[in-house]
Amino acid sequence: MSRANRKKTSKKPARPKKTKEQKVMQAKEKAIYERNRIALAYMELAKDKTFQKLEEDYKLDLVKEVLAIGDEVASWVVAEYGTNDPRKIAAQLGVKVFGEDSTDKKKKTPSEYRKEKKEIVVYRDFHEKLLREVRSTELSENLLKFVVAHELFHHLEINRIGEVYKRYKFLAWRLGPYAKEKNIRGLSDVAAQAFTLSLLELDISPQVFDYLTYILYTNP
Ligand SMILES: [Zn+2]
Repeated sequence: MSRANRKKTSKKPARPKKTKEQKVMQAKEKAIYERNRIALAYMELAKDKTFQKLEEDYKLDLVKEVLAIGDEVASWVVAEYGTNDPRKIAAQLGVKVFGEDSTDKKKKTPSEYRKEKKEIVVYRDFHEKLLREVRSTELSENLLKFVVAHELFHHLEINRIGEVYKRYKFLAWRLGPYAKEKNIRGLSDVAAQAFTLSLLELDISPQVFDYLTYILYTNP
């Protein structure tokens, strides 16, 4: 059968083709997504003295590499556990997730992974305050998933893949035969953010971007 014939007899409806504009839009959104992810990573690392001293080109390569680790872990986790719901994955891993009021008011953190007990604690008071201040239904629905996914990554780091920040060592100084190496702890959080966004398929819309900046980098 010739190609032309097969085409004629085939009754299968063709998948609607994306218009050129749609393709351009998609590429644009992807570029914005990537740019926002990188911007968030830089914010995460901004205060780290070791990171500050790196060359600009290297900083970018490093950030991209670490973001890719988070993406990769998200894709195998979904394949392995058959869900992208962080609470269901946590349950399958035997990680307890629960809410608690933070006793230390100075500790401005929305959640915590306690490695000794393999628990994820979500601080209720922090979240209530946030939800009052950041009004967005998109976010309130995702808030819990977001923090659980982040801590879940830390659990996977410790129990499965090894702590990401420990993969990278940087020379802090050298003096004759003496050299001191340092780590950049924030790299683990950069990977955790990539994991979270990738797992939840969260688009970093400007609203989500503002929110992330708010919870991660300001002290409400
Ligand atoms: Zn973290």
